[in-house]
Amino acid sequence: MKQTKIDWCDCTENCVVGCPRGCEYCYARRMNERFKWVEDWNEPQFFPERLKAFESKTPKSVFINSMSDIAYWERDWVVALFRAMIENPQHRYIALTKDYEKWCKVREEAVESTTEDLSILNDIFFVGRTVDKNDRMPDDFITADFINIEPIEEEIDTWRLVGYVDSEDDIFAVPAGRAIIVGAETGNRKGKVVPQKYWIDKLVRFADEWKIPIFMKESLRQLMGDEFRQDKLPWMERI
Ligand code: SF4
Repeated sequence: MKQTKIDWCDCTENCVVGCPRGCEYCYARRMNERFKWVEDWNEPQFFPERLKAFESKTPKSVFINSMSDIAYWERDWVVALFRAMIENPQHRYIALTKDYEKWCKVREEAVESTTEDLSILNDIFFVGRTVDKNDRMPDDFITADFINIEPIEEEIDTWRLVGYVDSEDDIFAVPAGRAIIVGAETGNRKGKVVPQKYWIDKLVRFADEWKIPIFMKESLRQLMGDEFRQDKLPWMERI
């Protein structure tokens, strides 16, 4: 598994490379243009042999899709991932998607096509919803394991990060995830968005109100000064 500068995990391991979403700021696509890992970035490719890297014994937090969006994986790739994670519960596995609804469908198809006991994944596998802009939050609210506001591209309307769930005899308000990661756009892209401090302050107030951790990436250290914060994320508690 590869060491990384990403500060909320120990390493990365990408068994899928490529993504059809076409985000303007995509660092992974730029890297692929340089190194040509896959011929066509818009056609994700699966490299199953890379899942063997999970067999290493020292517990790590592993970001499994810095080179793809997990919602665009094929069902059988997700099944292979599930199996590799179950066989190696010493690690914590983290994934991201910008289309959480599509991911839920792919996950459901994968769950239905395997007879394995997947219950351990609740403790070792964390999928975050990336909300770089307000319109990433859908009308149908689904909670994710965490909210990834990275790179923050505009002031986030925090009311969009709250939903309502029915229980037996009541309706509860809940946050869209059990933690928040927030980071600024890096690189020198033309049109790069530089965040305002009050955008981040607003997210801090939201996190404190809901008593969930907030983790600021290094890209915000200078902007936030003494208020820079890196609370423990759910997978950091468990390793
Ligand atoms: S979703 Fe992620 S991997 Fe896909 S194009 Fe956007 S930034 Fe790149």
